[in-house]
Amino acid sequence: MKIKILTIFPEMFAPVLNASILGRAQDKGLIAFEVIDIRPFSQRKHKNTDDDPFGGGAGMVMMAQPVVDAMRYAMGEGFSGRRIYLSPRGQTQTQRKAEELAREEELILLCGHYEGLDQRAIDLCVDEELSVGDYVLTGGELAAMVVADAVARLIPGVLGCEESAQTESFSSGLLEYPQYTRPRVFEGLEVPAVLLEGNHALIEDWRFEQSLRITLARRPELVQGLEMSKRQRRIYDRVLREWTQQKGDV
Ligand code: SAM
Repeated sequence: MKIKILTIFPEMFAPVLNASILGRAQDKGLIAFEVIDIRPFSQRKHKNTDDDPFGGGAGMVMMAQPVVDAMRYAMGEGFSGRRIYLSPRGQTQTQRKAEELAREEELILLCGHYEGLDQRAIDLCVDEELSVGDYVLTGGELAAMVVADAVARLIPGVLGCEESAQTESFSSGLLEYPQYTRPRVFEGLEVPAVLLEGNHALIEDWRFEQSLRITLARRPELVQGLEMSKRQRRIYDRVLREWTQQKGDV
């Protein structure tokens, strides 16, 4: 998969994209990142990419011309992927969205700055706007890194162990159960006994129950419509009875 990133701050990306799992994924040829500087595309004498907003108001607006030309360069001939503008106005990024984007052959992530981007650039060369949450960042660069990371780790082969991506928070529909590693006792706190006994069915049950309890406590809306095996359904019914009773007691 190719992910191209259009930005006026290209220097921000190397430490994130070239380190750790993303760096190794590039070395293995599973993913190719290309960071494209928008500034050289500006037709202004001093290569500026922003100007005052028509109609007045605070701040500057990114001009359409350098962005549209940089986008056309990034697309090249016969582009058939998805062009995304990172924006607080966009649909919020979710695990489902990351899964959808991971099926594309190519993504172009466009980072805004200042007060945002001239609407005509969005109209001309953006397929969708994507937000990383209901808050405002200074620029789209951190948001692009979040989206690139969430998508890249879903590409087959990128994570050492494919199972990790399937059992994590959101992938199963629930938040993840607690994880433990050595030592068995740390500052007086013990690892739950079930995880040490080697009974995989009981470990699965325990993990499902913990996931369910954490999700009910923190994000109960995620539990609706959850697909479950018969065994999980029995655990679910019991946990839900206890949970409803506890809520009633408070
Ligand atoms: N004036 C804009 C507004 O109120 O919606 C905010 C502009 S923000 C200061 C500058 C740039 O940061 C945006 O163009 C966008 O690319 C990026 N950005 C800010 N918050 C974001 C978010 N929650 N998700 C994705 N991108 C964001």
